[in-house]
Amino acid sequence: MSDQFMITMQAALQQLAIQQTVETLGDRATYLGASDIGACPRKTILSKLNPPSADLVTLLRFRRGHMAEDIVAAALTAAGFSNFKRQVEVRYAGDVPVTAHIDFVFISEPRKTMAVLEVKSPETMPADPYGSWESQLYLQMGLLAAGNPEYTVEKGAILAVNFGEQGMQLFNGYTPQTTIYEGLIDRATTIWNDYQSFAAGELTTPVMEAGPLCGYCPFVADCPKFDAEEVQELTESVEILTELQKQQKALETEINIRKNNLLAIVAQRGPLKAHGKFLQKAYRSRKVLDTVRLAEFLKGYAQSLSDFQTTSSYSFLEIKNAA
Ligand code: SF4
Repeated sequence: MSDQFMITMQAALQQLAIQQTVETLGDRATYLGASDIGACPRKTILSKLNPPSADLVTLLRFRRGHMAEDIVAAALTAAGFSNFKRQVEVRYAGDVPVTAHIDFVFISEPRKTMAVLEVKSPETMPADPYGSWESQLYLQMGLLAAGNPEYTVEKGAILAVNFGEQGMQLFNGYTPQTTIYEGLIDRATTIWNDYQSFAAGELTTPVMEAGPLCGYCPFVADCPKFDAEEVQELTESVEILTELQKQQKALETEINIRKNNLLAIVAQRGPLKAHGKFLQKAYRSRKVLDTVRLAEFLKGYAQSLSDFQTTSSYSFLEIKNAA
């Protein structure tokens, strides 16, 4: 495919994303959405003032999110459900403009009850739902309950849809929690006030909540949080990583000892069966370059191996003890 074709695809996806955002979410600079409130305040505020242009991967991620919702809607319809509404907008009635767009609201008219389903499409399925997903759900349930006093909002759930090998997972059993909802509204009030002050030039740096996912934030390049001599918020991540690396080393040693012990047996006694597995000494061959002969050959043409060596670079995370 030509470069021009790829540029056209990216521009078209960008256009679709803008169109879809305007149609479903309106002007996001004029209110706080449920996902804005759970995110780092600096990221939320800067995203509203200078919306970052999305790269191709991000644009595809947006489409994946919409596709996941469409798949769930089609499955629910095929299963005979008709008692749900999609993209239900709920607004906070207080002074702060907080608006949530709920993926699915199930309604029982006879029982006068409602339930919320939030659909996510993560690249890899987490073992537990992310805190930001849960905050979003609690805010949605709270806003839905406040806006529909004639109904009881009974429960909420998060359905994670993975388009790879991990399929779907339902994180269930959430019920509206007044304390959490009120805490989120208080947080929204603080973020909204800071947003106004920052836009008016009265606040220089909004509150920053650094974490392991800062690398995916479009405002990381000039984030003052990382000017600090030591980034305290990453302590836990680095601690867990170094501990896992230690365990990996110990595990590799343990695996090699066990492999060598078993190999020593089958090498002398031949194939055997244990634990329902078949063990034998196997041989595999692979082609290797005879560099000594090749160097001799090249010498005849006044050349050496190094004439054919090139340097390629790659990046990796280096971790050393700090001074
Ligand atoms: S890099 Fe992290 S701390 Fe800085 S604005 Fe982004 S999310 Fe917030």
